[in-house]
Amino acid sequence: MASEKEAALAAVPNDSPTIFDKIIKKEIPSTVVFEDEKVLAFRDINPQAPTHIVIIPKVKDGLTGLSKAEERHVEILGYLLYVAKVVAKQEGLEDGYRVVINDGPNGCQSVYHIHVHLIGGRQMNWPPG
Ligand code: 5GP
Repeated sequence: MASEKEAALAAVPNDSPTIFDKIIKKEIPSTVVFEDEKVLAFRDINPQAPTHIVIIPKVKDGLTGLSKAEERHVEILGYLLYVAKVVAKQEGLEDGYRVVINDGPNGCQSVYHIHVHLIGGRQMNWPPG
């Protein structure tokens, strides 16, 4: 499989349906760790740490990435971060964790349906790669 960077550079940044729509509709399986009417959180298929969860809005509403955010998205953007905290607690990440939103080719975004990465279970480094 291509590296994350190769996948990101190959991805076409548009508002077409993505693999995440299929995950929301349960057309392809995923390990869901949190779900309500607004968001879905599931384990990343290619984890970068012992805990690696992707948190997405169920309705994309044009929010392919953070750079497409409009004022109407403020509530869901805040809620995605709140759910990251809830799931981190659920996962037992008491010693800390990292929350990441990749945006665009330079940000290594490969799926154009906004998502928050919750990464933890090991010591992180800074600066990131
Ligand atoms: P991005 O690179 O866009 O920030 O993050 C997309 C993430 O989605 C990647 O970490 C990738 O491993 C994950 N991903 C892509 N396809 C699937 C899939 O079919 N199932 C799951 N669980 N994760 C996926």
